[in-house]
Formats: sequence, structure tokens, C-alpha cells
Amino acid sequence: MISCSTADILHLSSFYPKDSKIVKIVEDNNQVNIYLKSQTHVQICPKCGHDSNKYHSTYRRKLQDLPIFGKSVYIYLTGYQYQCENDDCDQSVFYEDLNGFTGHYKRMTRRLEDFLVTLALNTICEGAARIAKLIGIKTSGDTIIRILLERASHVNKMNTDFIGVDD
Ligand SMILES: [Zn+2]
Repeated sequence: MISCSTADILHLSSFYPKDSKIVKIVEDNNQVNIYLKSQTHVQICPKCGHDSNKYHSTYRRKLQDLPIFGKSVYIYLTGYQYQCENDDCDQSVFYEDLNGFTGHYKRMTRRLEDFLVTLALNTICEGAARIAKLIGIKTSGDTIIRILLERASHVNKMNTDFIGVDD
């Protein structure tokens, strides 16, 4: 449980991964920019599933996150590229996903994607995009369709793998 020392303080860092650090926040009338530095030491290769603790390089990524009181939120993540140490894997280098906080090659956080998927499944993609815009999320119906298709493809792959094991 997170408690605040006074009624008007909310610790933003508690909403971000434990293995990251907020280094700067820049806010204007419409947008909050959060500069986040990764502090991971190990990540899982998306291709073979092996742990890797070998840094390859650092990089800067821009990720959209859930809005705060109607203001768009963008994370400027300084993260690591890791090198897969499994000799049998053909994925030499990969971007970290901050242990599920985002995808390896995504431009938004997992929780923002989850929200858009839930909204779209209960409305329609274009309607979801219009509602999202009202609360400060910059997206389009096409982007939401792409997210839904990616997730459906992932579920189909998992089902295929499961059937394959039973066979
Ligand atoms: Zn690998």
C-alpha cells in the first residue's frame, strides 16, 4: 500500500516500474512529458526466452502512457538494448520491455494498450479513438485496429502452440 505524507502529494514514481527512475518532468497546458531512465540489469530475449544481462547500447524511446486528468502523457525512456547470449538464437540484439511495462518495439505502454483494447471491444474502434481523444489520448481507429489484430494474432499463436504440445 502506498501512503502519502500530506493530502495533496501523489508520488508519480509509484506508477512506474521499480527498475526505472523519473529524472525530469516537463508539463505544459496540454501535455506531461516524463523523462524516465531504465535501471534494469536483466531482460528476457523475445525470440528464445533466455535471460540476458549483457548491455549492447542505450537508446531513447518515446512512449505514450495513460493521460493524467485529461493531459496527454509521454514518456521519454532512456533504455537499454540487450544482446542475446544464447548461441542458438538468431536474435542478436533487442530492445528492453521493462518487464512488461511496454512491448519491445511499441510506442505506447502496455496499460494504455489494455485500456484502448477494452474501450474498443465495448464500442467500436473509431468510437474508441474519439473517446480516447476526449481524455487526452492521441490515437486513431486504424491504430486501435492494428493493436486488436496483433493481440488476436498472439492469442492464435498461443492456441496453436498449445494444440501442438497435445498432439
Ligand atoms: Zn535469444
